[in-house]
Amino acid sequence: MTDAHYHSIRFDASACHGCMACLRVCPTQAIRVRRGHAVMIEDRCIDCGECIKVCAKNAVVPLTASPSGLGGYDYTVAIPSPALYTQFDGEVTPGTILQALRNSGFDEAATLSWSCGAVTHAIELYFAEYRGPGPLISSFCPSVVRLVQIKYPELVDQLLPVLSPREVAAREAKRKAAADTGLPLDRVHAVYVTPCPAKMVSIVDHPGMEASYIDSAVGISDLFPLLAPVIREVQTSHAKVPETETAAGLGWAFSINLPSTLPAEDTLSVWGLPNVLRILDDIDKGKLQRYTFVECHACFEGCVSGALTVENPYVARARALRLQQSLPKRDLVDAAEMRARHERGEFRTTVPFAVRPPSPLGRDIVTAIARMQERDGIAAGLPGIDCGACGSPTCATFAEDVVMGEAEQAQCVVLRQGQLEEQLARLAAQGAAATQERGREIR
Ligand code: SF4
Ligand code: SF4
Repeated sequence: MTDAHYHSIRFDASACHGCMACLRVCPTQAIRVRRGHAVMIEDRCIDCGECIKVCAKNAVVPLTASPSGLGGYDYTVAIPSPALYTQFDGEVTPGTILQALRNSGFDEAATLSWSCGAVTHAIELYFAEYRGPGPLISSFCPSVVRLVQIKYPELVDQLLPVLSPREVAAREAKRKAAADTGLPLDRVHAVYVTPCPAKMVSIVDHPGMEASYIDSAVGISDLFPLLAPVIREVQTSHAKVPETETAAGLGWAFSINLPSTLPAEDTLSVWGLPNVLRILDDIDKGKLQRYTFVECHACFEGCVSGALTVENPYVARARALRLQQSLPKRDLVDAAEMRARHERGEFRTTVPFAVRPPSPLGRDIVTAIARMQERDGIAAGLPGIDCGACGSPTCATFAEDVVMGEAEQAQCVVLRQGQLEEQLARLAAQGAAATQERGREIR
């Protein structure tokens, strides 16, 4: 089921004290503060989780699954994001973490390394055949996909139509579990251990696919307190690096491992939504056609800085680099098998990426144009300092909110202060005139 307005976060009005910190960081201007509480404009939110990172009151709630709710399935496979490997202090190896997941109630824990390698091959094979306009834009970060769908509808056909490593890993893990246990595939439950809420969006909304192979997601921050003591128990017995791990696979925690056939000078790697917005603007204007591929990450340090991670992202990144040195540099993927599976379309998205522009200003073009003119007229009379005190992030969004009946012009404190000052000056002038008049009468 696709839900065009599904979101992986919600605002808790009872915890929110209207400080506006979230409103200031939201990259798509999807937040308003009304009557003292933050509210979301659903068709603008891209589920990036920036609001979670800045809310000191925990009033932005991620809608990931609770670890306690994961029992009750016939067979549950945990699929940890490579970012999970970077969250634990000390010499904790991926082998220890996978075993800790098994000891914490999951029937199996599957690594993403093979899938990351397979997707790198799939990108290479796709580019060998691709003859369309460039550059192609990576589609593995669900917030970037939503951003393109909402703000850059002309670019949806440039989203890379290759499945993400997490989807490939879930599919392969489910097939293996079904083969090992004799259970039907739909009785195997795949749980992604996620560094950000946006991955929930790709499970429910699954852009580019008829359905996601992942059944639910649990946040790293929710699992961390349960996993940490188990890790201490299994640390020595499972410290050996599993055969299934690779340095390249772990690297996906902060960057896509691009095939060597895509020369670095023909690709761009962009981290952080303000930078992603700038690059997408340029692609939209046709400026970057000489590049073949643009890798976009909503978070500044890649997945290690997702809103549901627990470690300082810079420490996590350094830890990932150290861990990479201890992991084998080998390629786990059999090139001939990969080519055959690529030809069967096993690594391609199955439906086109849809566009989903925000609601227009009016239902018909005449109303929309009239409202646009009204909005521009209101905006021209506003101070233009984007103070946010009205509860809208900018004067332009406030003007739009007024036109749409969601705010009143009187909410602009600067205008109100100006009007009050004018009123005071008028009253003062009237008072002075009256005093002068009385003086003349007395004389
Ligand atoms: S950051 Fe946003 S959600 Fe959190 S308390 Fe402030 S206004 Fe409310
Ligand atoms: S998740 Fe991102 S886009 Fe959505 S409201 Fe929060 S900051 Fe804005």
